[in-house]
Amino acid sequence: MNTAYVLLGGNKGERLTNIEKAISFIEKLVGPISNKSKIYVTAAWGNTNQPDFYNQVICVSTKLSAIALLEALLLIENKLGRQRGDQKWQARTIDLDILFFNNDIIDSPDLKVPHPYLHERKFTLVPLAEIAANFVHPIFNKSIAELENECSDELEVNPLM
Ligand code: AMP
Repeated sequence: MNTAYVLLGGNKGERLTNIEKAISFIEKLVGPISNKSKIYVTAAWGNTNQPDFYNQVICVSTKLSAIALLEALLLIENKLGRQRGDQKWQARTIDLDILFFNNDIIDSPDLKVPHPYLHERKFTLVPLAEIAANFVHPIFNKSIAELENECSDELEVNPLM
């Protein structure tokens, strides 16, 4: 069994419903979810006209390889982005990113793990620290709690009330 941390995020449409639907697809197509952070709200950077982002981090156990997990997540993004009656796929309503896959380091054109920006973004570090504060980043050899303390991202990340 593999252990993956996945970030769910979105700022379009019914944000809460989209996250809930993505979670139920992940349970069906990927594997059991052993831990979930709260949902956090972050202002859309530099653009006050956009709705706030909702973000959540989950820990999922899976028999899928990292690349098969990525394919499953892209499929789920597409399923949720599709609007009934629309001719075309509309803009994605949910973004699903692999943050960690075991302690693996993957650097292929289609998949980079650990996620290359996770240490720069409070909207990732805050929910991740809630469920995995002691997890050690396999490239930086620092815990999530340390990376969160060192992160200079100024955006406020607040739990959804
Ligand atoms: P974006 O829409 O910016 O999140 O980019 C999605 C694309 O990023 C996917 O089609 C993947 O091929 C690529 N990608 C690279 N590393 C990752 C990762 N760790 N998790 C999710 N997508 C990734």
